[in-house]
Amino acid sequence: VTRQCGSCTLCCKLLPMAKRPDDVYGAVHAMVDAGLATYAEYAGSRAEWTKPAGARCQHQRRTGCAIYGDRPASCRMWSCRWLSGDDTADLSRPDRAHYVIDVVPDYVVLRNNETGKHHHLPVVVIWLDPDYPDAHRDPALRAYLLRRGEERTAALFRLSERKGFALFPPQVSDDGQWHEVQSDAVTAQHDAADIFRTLAAAGLDFLGTAAMSKEGLR
Ligand code: SF4
Ligand code: SF4
Repeated sequence: VTRQCGSCTLCCKLLPMAKRPDDVYGAVHAMVDAGLATYAEYAGSRAEWTKPAGARCQHQRRTGCAIYGDRPASCRMWSCRWLSGDDTADLSRPDRAHYVIDVVPDYVVLRNNETGKHHHLPVVVIWLDPDYPDAHRDPALRAYLLRRGEERTAALFRLSERKGFALFPPQVSDDGQWHEVQSDAVTAQHDAADIFRTLAAAGLDFLGTAAMSKEGLR
C-alpha cells in the first residue's frame, strides 16, 4: 500500500529548517547524476529559511502546504519513515501518533564508566510533539524500537534542537531493561560524513537518497 501524507503536516511543525542547507543542493546534484531525480522535480523551489523545531511553518495549513508547488528543495526530498514504510506498518500516521520518525539516523556517544572508553551507538531520531510529551510511550513505537534494538540501535527523542532524551532498548542495555537518559543539551546534530562513518563502523549501511532532513544532511 502506498502511503500518503493526507492531512498530516506534523513534520512541518516539528522539524527545524536551515536557511542555507548547502548539503541539500549537493544531494540534489548527486541524485540527478545518479539518475534518481531530475532537476524538473526541483524547478521553482523557494529558498529555505530558518525555522526552529516545534514551530509551525508559516505556510502550513490544516490540509497541507499553502506553497506546495514551490516549496523548498529540502521539503521536496524529505519524508518521514512512516511515509516511506520503513518497518512502520503497525504505526499510526504521525499526526495521530504525535511523533515523527526522521529518515536520517544519528548516533550517540557512550562512555564506559569502568574503562573510560567511548563508543558510538546508532540511534533512530524521533521528533516528539511538545504538546504530547508522553507520545513516546506508544506501545507500537516501543515494539518498533525493540526491532531496532535487534539491530543494536537506540532512539534519540528530540523536543527541540537542544532538548531531548535517549531511550535504550533492552538489547543494548547491560541489565536488559529499558533506559531513558534525559538531557537538556542534546549536542548539535552530527554532519553527514560523521554519521556515515559511524554507522559504517557499526556495520550499518545508510547510503540511501532519502538521507536528508529539512536542515539538509547533518
Ligand atoms: S510527518 Fe510524514 S506523513 Fe506527516 S506530513 Fe510529514 S512526511 Fe507526511
Ligand atoms: S514550506 Fe510547506 S512543506 Fe515545507 S515546511 Fe512549510 S508547510 Fe511544510
